[in-house]
Amino acid sequence: MKLILLGAAGSGKGTLAKKITRDFGIPQLSMGDMLRDIASSGSELGKKIGEYQNKGILVPSDVVFEVLKERLSQKDCENGYILDGFPRTIDQAHLLAKVTEVDAVISVELAFDEIERRLAARRTCPKCGDIDNANYEGFTGNCRKCQTPLFQRDDDKPEAIRTRLEVYKQNITPLINFYGDRLFKVSSAGSPDETYKPVYDFLKTLEA
Ligand SMILES: [Zn+2]
Repeated sequence: MKLILLGAAGSGKGTLAKKITRDFGIPQLSMGDMLRDIASSGSELGKKIGEYQNKGILVPSDVVFEVLKERLSQKDCENGYILDGFPRTIDQAHLLAKVTEVDAVISVELAFDEIERRLAARRTCPKCGDIDNANYEGFTGNCRKCQTPLFQRDDDKPEAIRTRLEVYKQNITPLINFYGDRLFKVSSAGSPDETYKPVYDFLKTLEA
């Protein structure tokens, strides 16, 4: 099962991906993870990626193409995978189509004001990286794991969130159109389990 998971940061996409990985035994791959995996492999391609990253340059699309080809052909991808947050743009979608045909594209949808509300409540532990939500009952302002006072990342401040959502909005419509016939839309307005239920049922029919 080759899947793409679309959704803005804060839409609950990551939580959904973890549930799919758990139940369907396919790895969750982000472009960042794939670049890191290949870069640390020591291959020729890995060295090339390392050079771009050391210089702080965006990895060009012909290299991204090679990364996709190599990473998606590895053993753990035998039964499929979930591409989490890739492609982000229509150009990347065309690139991916040259490497493989995906079976389905799951689009996690949530109203932007709700995303803003969720992200604005997000607090991060500077010590262990744990993430908590200031809207939850029992929130103390300290990390649940190590009791360190939590902070709000600059990324999660309202201005930054709005900019990020604008970029997402500009890119998502062409992607939705591109994957039209393979698209499965799900709302994440409810709880994580409520979001997952229709996705699980859909993937079961896809598997059959
Ligand atoms: Zn902590």
